[in-house]
This record gives sequence, structure tokens and C-alpha cells, in this order.
Amino acid sequence: MSKQFASLSFLIAALLLPCGAQTRGTPSDPDLTRWKVHDRSRPAAPLITPGTPGTQENPGRAPSDAIVLFNGKDLSKWESARGGAAKWRVHDGYLEIVPGTGDIHTVQSFGDCQLHVEWATPNPPQKHDQERGNSGVYLMSKYEFQVLDSYQNKTYADGQAASVYGQYPPLVNASLPPGEWQTYEIIFHGPRFDSGGKLLRLAHMTVLHNGVLVQDNVALTGPTAYMARPPYAPHPQKLPLLLQDHDQSGRYRNIWIRELNDWDSE
Ligand code: MG
Repeated sequence: MSKQFASLSFLIAALLLPCGAQTRGTPSDPDLTRWKVHDRSRPAAPLITPGTPGTQENPGRAPSDAIVLFNGKDLSKWESARGGAAKWRVHDGYLEIVPGTGDIHTVQSFGDCQLHVEWATPNPPQKHDQERGNSGVYLMSKYEFQVLDSYQNKTYADGQAASVYGQYPPLVNASLPPGEWQTYEIIFHGPRFDSGGKLLRLAHMTVLHNGVLVQDNVALTGPTAYMARPPYAPHPQKLPLLLQDHDQSGRYRNIWIRELNDWDSE
């Protein structure tokens, strides 16, 4: 597909969005007409036990309705993107990248979600620019949210920590020094395609980095890539979550996910 055509497709899809699928939390939400204001027969929200925040010494605890993908003990929820068992190392409650062993992804597939990830880059730092603690959280194995040591480390803006790689730099650089545990809270809504593969809805991402808003409902141009902005290609509504081995060291802990099923209820 030509660059011009890809840009045009993106624009058309963006314009079509408001008249696409109904979305929860908009004035067209059918629940607003189904229930009168303060209707006491309207179902209450399900009760859950919220999680607890982490500290530098200890990871936090996931909310009771989350799927815990890594709890500090084993890699049972993960496999190597090359096939077979994930070859990263579990040590002292965290997951460590073993450079050169390849990306790892979840056994289970996910689409729209709230994702919590804690990560740390090597201290003392190794190298600089994109070679300093580079990893990444790939929603649906296709849309990379960048992990990098961006504390006093200059690189291109759309490749620093908390960027949607190659598309959107973060609103601010909320990075902590290397070696310290940092958090991403990612709200992701995947793209939608009709049965013929036509793009109905763009993927969107909202992210807090160490509690600070860094991506505010940005619309992705398509899958993320190095030196390119490829257009969307049809794919299933759920795909595995992937963590990148960029041939550099890095650590993860306390990874949990909550599936969002009714953002655009029918
Ligand atoms: Mg990366």
C-alpha cells in the first residue's frame, strides 16, 4: 500500500469512527435511555477488592478480578515467541530478560484491556540511546509501548520510554533513574475490522507512567515498527501480549491484566 493511500485510509477511518460501533460512556450509550436518572433498580457495579501499590522494595498486589500474568514465581503463563518454553530467568521475585533468547508472549490472548506492568532497566546503565535497557510491551503482539532507560538518556522522541513506538512521544518524561522499579498502567482498546477486513475502529491507548498521564487516548496509525508506520492489517480481536527481547538486559515484575469486554457494547 502506498504511503498516501495508507494516510488516506487512516483519515477515513478516523472520520468514520463516531458513526461506527456504539461506545459505552458516550451520549449514544444505550444505557442512558434504558435507565432513568438515579434509578434504584439499575444494577450496581460488581464488588472487587482493589490492589495495592508497589514500593521499590516490594511489588504491589493485583485487584481481585485481574488475571495475574507474572506473580514473581514462574513463567507458566508465558511461552517463547520462537516456540516452546519461555527462556527468561525468574529470580528473587522478578523476571529477567536473558538477551538473545527471544521475545516471550502470553499463552492466553487478549484484546481490550487494562494492563499493569512494573519494570526496571540495568544499573549502572549500559551503552546509550536505544541501546540502554530497550525492551517493550506489545499489546496484541503488534502495538509496542516502549520500555527504555530514558533517565538522562537522549534518543529520538517517539522512541523514548512511554512512547507508542514510532508514533507518539509521551506528554512528559516521568522516568526514574536506572535500577528503580517503574510502573505502566495501560488502557488499550484494540482495532476492529469487519468480516471483510475493513477497518472500523482504530486502536487507542491511554497510559500512566509512574502515576503520571503520558498518553491521552491516542489513536494508533497501525502496528508499530522501526523506521516505518505500516497500515492496519486485519487480525483477530484477541492476540497474545508480548514482551520484547531487544538483546539487552531488563527486569519485569507484578504483571496483571483486566479484560475490558463491553467498551463498545452492542
Ligand atoms: Mg523496544
